[in-house]
This record gives sequence, C-alpha cells and structure tokens, in this order.
Amino acid sequence: MCGIVGYIGKQKAAPLIIEGLKRLEYRGYDSAGVVVLEDGAFNVAKKIGRVANLEGEAARHHFHGTFGMGHTRWATHGGVTDANAHPHVSSDGQIALIHNGVIENYATIKKFLLGRGFTFKSETDTEVLCNLIAYHYAKEPPAAEGDSRFVESVRKALHHAEGTYGIVVMALAVPGELVTARKGSPLILGIGDGESLVASDVAAIVSRTQNVVYLKDGEIAHLRAKDFSITTVASGEAAAHVIDKVNWSIADAELGAYAHFMEKEIFEQPVALENAMRGRFAEDGSTAQFGGLNITANEFRGIERFMFCACGTALHACMVTEHLIERFARMPVECDYASEFRYRNTPLYRNTLFFVKSQSGETIDTLAALREAKRKGYKVLAVVNVVGSTIAREADGGIYQHVGPEVGVASTKAFTSQLLIGAMLALYIGRMRDLSFGDGVQIVNALKGAPDLVRRVLQQAPHIRAIARRYAHYTDMLFLGRLSLFPIALEGALKLKEISYIHAEGYPAAEMKHGPIALVSEKCPSVFLVPNGDIVNKIISSMQEIKARKGPVIAIASESVELPAGLADEVIRIPECHDAVLPIVAAVPVQLLSYYIAVERGCDVDKPRNLAKSVTVE
Ligand code: GLU
Repeated sequence: MCGIVGYIGKQKAAPLIIEGLKRLEYRGYDSAGVVVLEDGAFNVAKKIGRVANLEGEAARHHFHGTFGMGHTRWATHGGVTDANAHPHVSSDGQIALIHNGVIENYATIKKFLLGRGFTFKSETDTEVLCNLIAYHYAKEPPAAEGDSRFVESVRKALHHAEGTYGIVVMALAVPGELVTARKGSPLILGIGDGESLVASDVAAIVSRTQNVVYLKDGEIAHLRAKDFSITTVASGEAAAHVIDKVNWSIADAELGAYAHFMEKEIFEQPVALENAMRGRFAEDGSTAQFGGLNITANEFRGIERFMFCACGTALHACMVTEHLIERFARMPVECDYASEFRYRNTPLYRNTLFFVKSQSGETIDTLAALREAKRKGYKVLAVVNVVGSTIAREADGGIYQHVGPEVGVASTKAFTSQLLIGAMLALYIGRMRDLSFGDGVQIVNALKGAPDLVRRVLQQAPHIRAIARRYAHYTDMLFLGRLSLFPIALEGALKLKEISYIHAEGYPAAEMKHGPIALVSEKCPSVFLVPNGDIVNKIISSMQEIKARKGPVIAIASESVELPAGLADEVIRIPECHDAVLPIVAAVPVQLLSYYIAVERGCDVDKPRNLAKSVTVE
C-alpha cells in the first residue's frame, strides 16, 4: 500500500515531498520518512507514526536540497519502528530506496548479501533490495556516456527480485536523477515545468502538474528535472508512453469545511451519483449506455452468465448487482472474493462475461483475478474510479465511476456509485433481453431521482448522530437485511468494524436464527433494514424475535412501513423508492451511523488502525 513521492526540480524538495505524503497518508501511516541528497550526502529523516511526526523530525534536519523522495509505510515485513521506516540506505552508503510492495525472496537475497559484506539495520524486505541494488551498482562498469550504470544496476537487481514493487531509487554519485520501476504497485510520473515528480497516486502530484505518465508493470523510468526515459525492466528496450492529463484539481482532494474525508465523501454522494450517471442514459429514456465497454450488443447477446470479482466494499456492491441482474435480466450471476477466485480454479462456463470492481483500480487481488480470467481466455470488464489505473488499463473495457478522488479509507461515495453503475448495467442487460420499454423507463426515472433521495436521507444526519451517541458504547452489533439489502447489511457491519473497532456482523435477517441470535442480549443491538416489499412482515417477525430476547433494535425503514409500537428502539426513515435505487438509499444511513459512532468513540475515522486505502499487497 504505502505512499511514494519523489521530486527533482528547483524548489526545496522536503516541504514538497512532505506535503505530497500528507495527501497520500491514507495509503499507509505506520511511519513516514524523507531523504534529500544535499551537500554530497543523503540527509534522511524518518519517524514512526503520522506524517505530522515526520514534520517535527524534518525540522531538525534543515533540509535545503532540491532533489529527494519520501514514503509513508504500511508495514509488511518488520514491525513499526523508526529503523524499519523508509527510505533505506544501503550499507555502503551509495543507494537510497523507497518501496511499496513485498520482495518475496528477500531471505535468500539477504543471505547472499550477508556473505558479501553487506549489513542490515532493519528487518524489512526493502533494505534487502536496496543493498542488492548497491551490490550491482558497485559491480557495474562505468558507462561510456551518461550514467546508465545507475539504471542498469537497478534493472539487474530487479531481475532477481520476486514479488511486487513500486520503487524509487537515488544514487549518491548521481544527484538530480531518480530511477523508478514497478511491478504490481502503482507509480505515476508527473511531468512539470522544469521539474519531474513520481508518486503512487496523482493526489501527490496535481498541485505541481496535471501532466502525468502512468508507468506500466515491468517498466523502469529514469527521471531528470527536464527529461525522462522509460525502458523495460526485462530487456532495457525503450517503452512507448503517452502523457495524460489529470482531470481533477487539488481542491477535489481537500477537506474543506468537513471534519473528515469520510464525512465529506458521504455528503458528496448526491453529486457523485449525478456525475456517475451523466450522459449514460439512452436518448429514448429506457436504458443505459456506456462508452467504454468495448463489446458489441451482439457479443453481449451471446453471454450466458456473469462472474463478478472484487474485495471488501466493492464485493458488496457486486452482490447487489448480482441481485439486480437476476431481477432485471433473469440471468445467472456469480460473485466471488477476488482473493479466493485467483487460487480456486473455479470451473467456468464458456460464455461467461467477467466483471471486476475496484475503486482504486490497483487492488492486487482484484488485478490478479482479472489476469487469471484473461489468462483463461475470458473477456474482463472493470468498474473502476481511478482513471488510468492498472485494472482500468488491463481490462478489455469498462465503466469509470467518475466520482473524483476518494480519500477516506472507509469507502462511501465509491460504493454507492458502484451500486448505481451496477443498477445501470442490470438495466442495460435487461433491456437487451426481456425487460420492457415501460419497465426500462421506470428504472431510468428512478435512477435519475436517486441523488435527491440521498439528499433527503442526508438531512437526517442530526437524528442519526443522536442515535449514534446512544449506541457508541456497545461492543457488538448485528446488521440484518434481506435480498438486495443483505449486502448493505454486510457493508454496514464492515463500515462499523473498520472505523469504530466495534465487533459487527452482517447477516440475512432470517438467517440469524441459525447462529447469530445466540449473540443477542441487551448488550448487542441489531440494525434492521426494513424496506416496504413482499417480505416486510417476515423482517418484522425477525425483529420481534430479537426484541423477545431483549436485543435493542435500530430500524432503518421505508417511510410507509408501519412498525408495531415499541418494536424498534430507534427508527431512521428512508424514502420509498424503486428496487433499483433502494440499496443506494439504504446504504447512506448505515454509513452515517458508523461514521458518527466512530466519531463519538474518538476514533481516527480517516485512518483506521491496521488499514490502508488501496490494498496493493497480497
Ligand atoms: N514491504 C515493505 C515494508 O514492510 C514495504 C511496505 C509498504 O508497501 O509500505 O517495509
């Protein structure tokens, strides 16, 4: 996971790098560090904890150079200590390295290097790679022209590295040059005016330039202030690249008047939904249209089933999409955890269309599932928020979410926009099959109304906050829902776990009799999702069963649902709506409830412990 920033230019590097790290802190916050090459030496400051801690440390280092790099760590190898923080410097003092990923064969390489006099100050896999680069750098003959020796030594070291990496390297003897390479971890070059940057996310770059190059897996870039070149790690051949323009500005990634990014992103949802659907309804108003699916209507007709793979919140969105495709298109759908699918060797039907969903487009397990499906010859489409991300590039086609940067580690607006796009997809597929024009028009109108319905739910924030105050002290909670709201129950439980550290479980409401009801007592509240539909009375019966066992009940119920007096201790009302929109509307109160409970408990909402936003390590 981790955040990476590198800078070469005319400005003082350290403040720029630290500013960039703050914008990337959601990617990892175990420790942070910065190195600047100045006065012929690596000036390194690193500290456990947040970037704010690093700032204090950096002040003592009197950084003044214009060339350096920094890192926020999400520890995989070695504990959270100052020594394990990046950057690492090789034991001969020649090479400095920051790294995102895991070097799987680090133990073998370490043994090799120990036998050749290298020493280690940390327990990380990263320091091993750093020393391996130094080993090759020392061996590499000086180049006739320029210093290809630097790039070559990185390339040679990478030939021996198994695992994943996004790295940035500095060499003491080569000021003003950075070498950066990737395999499995995102890296973006920023091409500025007389300055060059590299980062793991555009958020760290957009304040300096909107011109970026998305480095691809297996590429190595050599950066100077005024130019750069890209070659392949494998053979050193020149690699073609394009300079893209980032279409959002720094204001998109700022907190504004909100206390947390999660709060900001919850309240941005009406606009995010509008952006996600803009231009995506057909002129006759009866179906959806998508520009980048890269699959003809005829090909689509030949599809007999769908397979969705994703992780975490995105998987919950897939489960809702499954429900809606079954409902609108009457077609079989399967959902799986990407991390399981990649190793499960699932038997697959011939005419299966694959979908993956990932906000960041960098989720390593989802990427691996995509590659596995492609390897088996299947077409894979992706629903992704981050433009130009690895999944977006490797998929055969797909749908961008267009909701702007999501910074809060707990996903909110990316989730509801995935729900929306899933509903539009179900409509699109349904309309190719048996869904009538009239039904299509109804669904389109319902989807268009979703932002306003979400606005209405958001108006209840003070009421939900008051409930959160009364429930913040509990240590266990159940979230119960049925049909398309079962995944929303899962999502509610996940949100609460993630940001408030309360143990929570999501279950299909009727399933709780088969186990979870054993948890119910006055100490374990249940959050029920109660839409008005065919089985509303069944859900009310489940509520009675909880109440009979003294479990406190919070009902998130449609306005028209009549709840027996005294059954629910708390009621949050959601507007009546079409089934296509219901999961979106029901998701908002569970987000708000979790958010306010976490705030009430004094939790660090945007940076929950042990988590990082885009999971780029396996
Ligand atoms: N494996 C490295 C470490 O544990 C890098 C982790 C990261 O991606 O932040 O330090």
